[in-house]
Amino acid sequence: MKFYSLNKKAPQVTFKDAVIKGIAPDKGLYFPESISPLPSSFFENIEELSNHEIAFEAIRQFVNEEIPDTLLKDILGDVLDFDFPIVEIEENVATLELFHGPTMAFKDVGARFMAHCLGHFSSNTENEVTVLVATSGDTGGAVANGFLGVKGVKVVILYPNGKVSDIQERQLTTLGQNITALKVNGTFDDCQKMVKTAFLDEELLKNMQLTSANSINVARWLPQLFYFLFAYKQLKSKGKELVFSVPSGNFGNICAGMVAQRLGMPVKHFVASTNVNDTVPEFMRTGNYSPKPSTATISNAMDVGDPSNFIRIRHLFEDNFDKLDQCLSSYSFTDAETKQAMKEIYSSTGYVTDPHGAVGYLGLKKYQDNYPETYGVFLETAHPVKFLDVVEETIGFALDIPSQIQKVMDKEKKSIKISEYSELKGYLLEHN
Ligand SMILES: *Cc1c(COP(=O)(O)O)cnc(C)c1O
Repeated sequence: MKFYSLNKKAPQVTFKDAVIKGIAPDKGLYFPESISPLPSSFFENIEELSNHEIAFEAIRQFVNEEIPDTLLKDILGDVLDFDFPIVEIEENVATLELFHGPTMAFKDVGARFMAHCLGHFSSNTENEVTVLVATSGDTGGAVANGFLGVKGVKVVILYPNGKVSDIQERQLTTLGQNITALKVNGTFDDCQKMVKTAFLDEELLKNMQLTSANSINVARWLPQLFYFLFAYKQLKSKGKELVFSVPSGNFGNICAGMVAQRLGMPVKHFVASTNVNDTVPEFMRTGNYSPKPSTATISNAMDVGDPSNFIRIRHLFEDNFDKLDQCLSSYSFTDAETKQAMKEIYSSTGYVTDPHGAVGYLGLKKYQDNYPETYGVFLETAHPVKFLDVVEETIGFALDIPSQIQKVMDKEKKSIKISEYSELKGYLLEHN
């Protein structure tokens, strides 16, 4: 399968080149040239398939010219070695827990899949690939963990000093080997600006193969479609129309859900739930897309003012607003509403949500006000312990620390402090 650039000014590439490049030379996002529905027997018999079998059938068409079936099965075996349980918390309302992976963030699946692909593609070349990534929290940990020890790949992670949680910082800075953490004296936007500058720096590009591990990369974006199929498998016997509410920041996860729908998965509707960074809810309300600077919130992995994957969603619907409107609703919620929801969910059901999951819950309930006969699933994208301070303060008691997190708690943090782009560039050239 070939991938084309959504800016349409760059040549089509293979899956391999799309993964290595990350973004097309014309700065467009890569998109698969076709999405062929799976046979209806796949959905009829999905309860009988293992998660590995489901994932294999779903991703195969996108990668099979570059990754042989046996290798793909091995990769999926490694990537999907944990559970994706559905937990019903109210009548017709369930959460899909995506946080049982090694860093307890849903980004583990995409990061690990991309790491395996890139490791495979660079295993028989002389050239190392350097993955450069800016993180406001969860991306960095998942990427660091996924790429740890992958031969031929170096990872450089930029994070804003003092602006990620202690647990998140430990997940970035305690691994060593091929992972380097740069602690930036600045904000997440400063980190992201440095990364973007590096991708345009001719001198760097002449000297090294740089790629991104954000969800613009097809190998991080597409595997997220598995989640929706795993949920469908568990909920099909309910016999109700399914609605997914996805806490959204860069809109990669929800866009992957829409790809699952194109593969033939029955789903009635998607809800994109956001915090006050409401560029998409405003677009769905007015038809005008106007990006803005991001605002800091308690669901900080969704503090995005110009979601990079929304263009893929518009493209899926041929830029036709009415068609998109039939399939997608989008609502935004304040921090106060989010905390109130966390409290109410806990007191009425005993379930502890993280702030992102709580935003998803709110969006789902808002939709179900008008469609009470549907069965709704909100995605829990991180374990509550990842946002320890706000969760404990809101629900009023201390959380148990799971073993995955406990493991990093007493390791030594190691990072290199930088303040300016020239220091990043110097580091990259020196360590090439
Ligand atoms: C990244 C992230 C999101 C947003 O996912 P997108 O695919 O960028 O929309 C939501 N919740 C958590 C916890 C995240 O880490």
